[in-house]
Formats: sequence, structure tokens, C-alpha cells
Amino acid sequence: MRLSELLAPTLREVPAEAEVVSHILMLRAGMIRKVASGVYSYLPLGYRIIKKVIEIIREEMDKKGSQELMLPIIQPAELWLESGRWNVYGDELFRLKDRHDRDFALGPTHEEIITDLVRGEVRSYKQLPLLLYQIQNKYRDERRPRFGLMRGREFIMQDLYSFDKDEAGLEVTYRKMYEAYSRVFSRCGLKFRVVEADPGAIGGSSTHEFMVMADSGEAAIVFCETCEYAANVEKAEAMADEQGSAEEMLAVEELPTPGARTIEEVAAFLKVTPERVIKSLVYQTEEGIVLALVRGDREVNEVKLQNVLGSLQLFLADGKSVTGLTGAEPGFTGPVNLKGVQIIADREVVLMRNAVAGANKTDAHIINVNPGRDFTPDKVADIRLVKAGEPCIRCGGRLNEARGIEVGQIFKLGTKYSKVLGAKFLDENGKEQLMVMGCYGIGVSRTVAAAIEQNHDDDGIIWPMPIAPYHAVVIPVSAKDEEQVKIAEALYSALLEQGVEAVIDDRNERPGVKFKDADLIGYPLRIVIGARAVEEGVVEIRHRRNGNVQTAKVDSAAPLVKQIVEDAIAESLA
Ligand SMILES: [Zn+2]
Repeated sequence: MRLSELLAPTLREVPAEAEVVSHILMLRAGMIRKVASGVYSYLPLGYRIIKKVIEIIREEMDKKGSQELMLPIIQPAELWLESGRWNVYGDELFRLKDRHDRDFALGPTHEEIITDLVRGEVRSYKQLPLLLYQIQNKYRDERRPRFGLMRGREFIMQDLYSFDKDEAGLEVTYRKMYEAYSRVFSRCGLKFRVVEADPGAIGGSSTHEFMVMADSGEAAIVFCETCEYAANVEKAEAMADEQGSAEEMLAVEELPTPGARTIEEVAAFLKVTPERVIKSLVYQTEEGIVLALVRGDREVNEVKLQNVLGSLQLFLADGKSVTGLTGAEPGFTGPVNLKGVQIIADREVVLMRNAVAGANKTDAHIINVNPGRDFTPDKVADIRLVKAGEPCIRCGGRLNEARGIEVGQIFKLGTKYSKVLGAKFLDENGKEQLMVMGCYGIGVSRTVAAAIEQNHDDDGIIWPMPIAPYHAVVIPVSAKDEEQVKIAEALYSALLEQGVEAVIDDRNERPGVKFKDADLIGYPLRIVIGARAVEEGVVEIRHRRNGNVQTAKVDSAAPLVKQIVEDAIAESLA
């Protein structure tokens, strides 16, 4: 490709609309342009990267025996009413009406459409397992679309759906997809982690997220420094701390604690450490109020608490509700003698001995509270947030924290959709059974944005070789020097012949502009043809990632570049 002909309008200024690095750099490098909030056009360089990611996905999916198809973006409301999601999906579902006033939606996901297809076409266990996927635009009417391709209203996804005859079959398929997805992100040249996650509203028994590691990532991840354990912070578990559980139980005593409301204030006032205090939080759910208890030095994990309660809504109760429950001002709530509320205690709380808790009287706390003796929780569960430094739930090793960007997720759906939509088959005994499903998705446009979040510096993008829009740019320093241009043109042709994806910067621009654009766009290799090329027959090959410069004879430059490209791609396959 000749840069004089390429539509890649680079910008020197940081666009005002962009907040995150990937968004800023894709706009500046002339890869995307905004059409409407959360809706973008992909320019040639941007679309080339998208196509590279898609090609890697396709190869890995096909290797696992899955079949590509294409389902409609426009989906009739009837199927969403049948699955029960038309009303619960909310405002994020893009809805539209046709000229006959019939309701449709722009697909955010395709469980309904694919299950409808399969229930009509698959009858026998002999046709299972079946793995079907597509790569297309998806729609979600985000309240606040932002961060460019990271959170758009129109985005490109690969979505795969699996149909098995039983749970054991799903297990095999799920493993396969776990491997295939891991291969995809390795092959894209990205550093990533697979983490256990919370299934949330989609339901199902198990789910993993694929996280591209980046300090700017929106998701917090907890991982073990010793074993393979890694989980989204919403899901992460650590071993419970059993410290203090052997103490002899003392008699309860109420003490005045004027003005001491927070854990820190109470601990300081009573001269104990925060882990001796029971943190009592009142939550409101659609089914009433609950009291959640964690140790004073811990935080409540609201996702875990919501799962334990099975509630759709959960938020901290206001001061008035707290006083209505306890008869005291907020800050003095505790589980002892508290009536009319469900009490959920974290596993660590029931191991506490001679603890401090609110007395449900303004300006008073109780000491020597012993769970089991002085109050009985309705449920004991893991409801706390795990932090770095805690012992791993699997091996006891030290847990650490990192940030990541979710680019893929795999779900065991079980029979959730096959049941409501009636996707059945006849088994070996001629008996009707429900298909057991899984669903799997990769955010293609998001992966590209995540790759930039992970790979950039002050000058621009640093593409991993496998998804770079082009492997190398050839730059004649002076467009007016006929000898330089001749050598550059010959090298450019030689690179194309070798199968290297190369561009030549044949624009009539100053060298500084060409170098700046090359760094901004992020070609992995920059080959400079300057005075030395004319005088000594030597060209410079600069590596974008580390700034290292290699020199080569003009004649041997093309095979050398080909070797560098091949080695980098081979490394991503290893
Ligand atoms: Zn571990």
C-alpha cells in the first residue's frame, strides 16, 4: 500500500471527545471516526486490524469443529416474549417497529434466534453436539456510550452457541472453547488471564472471563501468586481467617460509645483492632430489608450478597429505614436482639469470639458478643470482598490484584433457553430430552481497543505483530532524492514479494512527519532509507516496541524483515 493513496487521516491534537488511550490513539491514527454517540466508522487501517482478529477467531473456531453461519440483526419481539426477555432486558435493548406496527429488536445477543433455529431443525441425538457461531455487529443502547470502541452502542462480536445432549457433553464443549478462546488471545499477541466470574443475570452454573491485562482496565482481578486460581473480584474467594476462634467466651456487656459510629471510631474508642468489631450493614431489597455482617476490617461484596439472597435489587438502606429497624441512629446497628430482619453473616463472622457490635441504642455498643450464643444468623455465607495479601482459597498462597479489560466470556447455560423455547431431541432410547447449551462471545472491536490499552507509549500504538495493520513501513527520508526513492521502491517490492505486509511512505512530507505518523500508527518495523543507503548500501530497521535499530545491506533487508515477522508470529503461536 502507498501512503499517498491510503485514507489514514492522522491528527496531531488529542480529540476533545476522547477520554481513554485506545480511543484517543485510534482517532489520532485515522483508524476510526465517530458517526453518532457510541457508533463508529472503521477506516481502512482500523478495519484491517478488525479483519485480522476475525481471521484468527475463525481459524481457531473452525479447528474445534464449529460451523459459521449468519443470523439476522433484526429480531422479532415474539421470540423475546417467548424467552421472557422482552420485558426484563430493559432500555439497553434497541427496539423498533416496522410499517405494520410489529415490534422488533436489534440483536444484542442471539440465544433466542439460534435456539429457534435449532429446535426446528435438530431432532436426534445423532445430530449433537452442534457448535454454531457468527461474527457480526451487535447493538446495545448504552445509557452512557464512551471510551470509543470499549463501550459502544454498535460493536462487532463473535458469538458461538453450543448444543449438547447432556451435562457431560457440555463439559467437553466448554473445555474446547476455553482452549480455543485462550488460543485466540495468545495468537493476537496479548497478555491475558482467564478468570472465574459471576454468572449474574444470564444464569447458568459456571462462567469464565478472558481479561486483557492493562492498568487502565475497568475490571479488578484477584489471582494467586502460587497456583492457577484467578477470579473477577466479584467472584473471588479467599480462605476464612480463623484467628481468635479458640478464645473463651466472656459475658456480654453494654458500654457507652458516644459519637463513635464508624468501625475506626468504635475500635479506637474501645481500644480494640477493627477485626474485633462486627460490621453491620442494613440493605434494602425488593423483598424487604436484610442485615449483612462482615468483620470490621472487611467490605461486603454486594454481588455475592445479592446471589445469596437471590434478590434482583440490592442497595444500602437510608438512615430513616435503619432507625426504623433498630430504634437507634445509624452507626449503632448490631445483630444482638434485633428482630424483624433477615441476618446474613459472612463465614468469618461466625468464627469471631468476644466481638464488638452495635447495641441498637444511640451512643452504645456491646462487647463480648459471640455468634451462636448471642445471636443466630439466618444464613452463613461468603459475602466479603477479597483483597490482595489474603490466602488463596485453593492453595493458601498469597493473592494479588491486577486490572484487566474483559474481551471474552464463556457460559454454561444448561437448559435455561432450551426449556423456555422447547429445544428438544430424541435420545438413544427414543426419549425426548432438553438440549444442554453453552454460549461464548468475543468482543472483536473491544479486543482491538484492549490491545492498544495494553500496547502503547507516548508516541502512539505498538501493535503486536499478529494484528498489526501492516508489518512494516518503508520510509525514504527525502522524497526528492531520486536514489533514495529508487532504493525504497525496490525494497518495498521485494518485501511484498516475500509476503511481508508493507507500506511505503511515498508522501511528499518532511521526514519528521513520516516518523511521527509511523510511531502513531504503530507499525512494528520501520525501515529508513537515507543517505547511508545511497552511499553505503545500508538501511536501518527500527523495532517499534523497544526502539532497537538493526542495520542491513539493501539486498538482504527484505529476507531479514520477513524473518523478523515470522519469528514474532511464531512466538504468539507457541
Ligand atoms: Zn493458589
